Amino acid sequence: MKKILFVASECVPFIKTGGLADVVGALPKSLDKEKYDVRVILPDYTCIPAKYRDQFRYASHFEMQLGGLGKVYVGIMTYEMDGVTYYFIDNEHYFRGDTPYGDVHWDIEKFCFFSKAALSILPTIEFHPDVIHCHDWQTGVLPVFLHTVFKDNPFYHNIRTIMTIHNLKFQGIWDINTLRLYTGFPNEVFTPDRMEYKRDANMLKAGLVYADRITTVSGTYAEEIKIPYYGEGLDGLMRAKSRDLSGILNGIDYDIYNPETDKKIYSNYSIKNFRKGKAANKAKLQEELGLPADPNVMIMAMITRLTDQKGLDLVAYVLDRLLDSAIQFVVLGTGDARYEDMLRTYEWKRKDKVSANIYFNDERAHRIYAAADSMLMPSQFEPCGLTQLISLRYGTVPIVRETGGLKDTVQPYNRFEQTGTGFSFANYNADEMLNTIFYAEKVFYDEHDAWNALVKRGMEKDYSWNSSARQYEALYESIT
Ligand code: ADP
Repeated sequence: MKKILFVASECVPFIKTGGLADVVGALPKSLDKEKYDVRVILPDYTCIPAKYRDQFRYASHFEMQLGGLGKVYVGIMTYEMDGVTYYFIDNEHYFRGDTPYGDVHWDIEKFCFFSKAALSILPTIEFHPDVIHCHDWQTGVLPVFLHTVFKDNPFYHNIRTIMTIHNLKFQGIWDINTLRLYTGFPNEVFTPDRMEYKRDANMLKAGLVYADRITTVSGTYAEEIKIPYYGEGLDGLMRAKSRDLSGILNGIDYDIYNPETDKKIYSNYSIKNFRKGKAANKAKLQEELGLPADPNVMIMAMITRLTDQKGLDLVAYVLDRLLDSAIQFVVLGTGDARYEDMLRTYEWKRKDKVSANIYFNDERAHRIYAAADSMLMPSQFEPCGLTQLISLRYGTVPIVRETGGLKDTVQPYNRFEQTGTGFSFANYNADEMLNTIFYAEKVFYDEHDAWNALVKRGMEKDYSWNSSARQYEALYESIT
């Protein structure tokens, strides 16, 4: 039985700000239980809902030296769910607050603490992993700790590490002296071929250099990050590491995202009766959002962080023209204030066409997936993207830019061969996006059969964790 340890800053159902949480929530459950003993280490954020947190059991605690900061408290809480054991690192000083992240500087100290604490608790919980699977910059320093501070401790020998990039944009960069203070890493770590980056220290880069393998969440993104446009300053490192770098597509949790059983939606449906089912959901959503009750209008949705990455600048550029077409535009998201304000203003101006839901609400997200006809994702870059996968499962046709995981999972509609599962455009250009939306509208309004066939092909696709979990298992095998 191989032992696999996940260390991450987010995990469904405990805490989520983005797709990372979905992956860390679903992948451990999907690994073959006969072959792998899987455990997950997370921060014990005080903002984890009480219904879970009240059930966490105290396991142990100790004091840990954190670089030059002195001794800090490390508590260990445990919880079991769906055959997976979770450990929550308790330290209220670091993990209190309404959100998991906030001030960048504070986050950097917080995740230096978390990464070291995750390694430090292993002897106490008597778990010696064969593989530690790290996720994003928050756990970037973990492989470095393993190979420096812990290297002479025999308990930590023969542990392999994998670093998975969910988003290369966030790297955890701060000055070298501060990072040296927080980590206690020796000087040799802070060189340009290791953790140093443009005279600062870069936590994600450190992880990428020290990990045995690097994965990212789609094949296309794994290629894209080797070029400067997508490489976020690390494209050179990605090229140098290309033999250790691979892309494994994310899946979605088919138990949570299942229109046949989803309790959060108004009316359940399947591939056999999606027309009726989606119509029922649409009527209810229009009522709930205060949009005109119109069974025939196309609802195009966006469920997303409202940032430039997600193409909100393109939307801003053409929104007036878009709203002059026959469409109801439903947005659910939070993010940059200028986009939040813009959407609220448009809702006020065009009440009959726009519903701006500027908050995070999982239930409403499910209802929108079930009710909408199409889902817009004009991303500048998209490592994998889960929104389009959920959309496909709910019979909501994705309209996407051909980048990263969007390119790998949405096949463009071909009217001559009657193939494809969505609509896509190549260049990051607002007019190209708008033309693609207009084309989708045309098919929606004028070619009902073609549209329904498109929906059906999307619903038939399998983006569950099954195939991706087998690929991760193969990767674990190859390094142990
Ligand atoms: P990213 O991880 O870059 O934010 P993904 O498409 O990979 O984007 O994942 C986004 C996930 O978060 C999806 O499950 C989506 O439904 C969900 N989501 C995004 N914004 C909201 C929101 N405001 N309310 C509820 N769910 C949201």
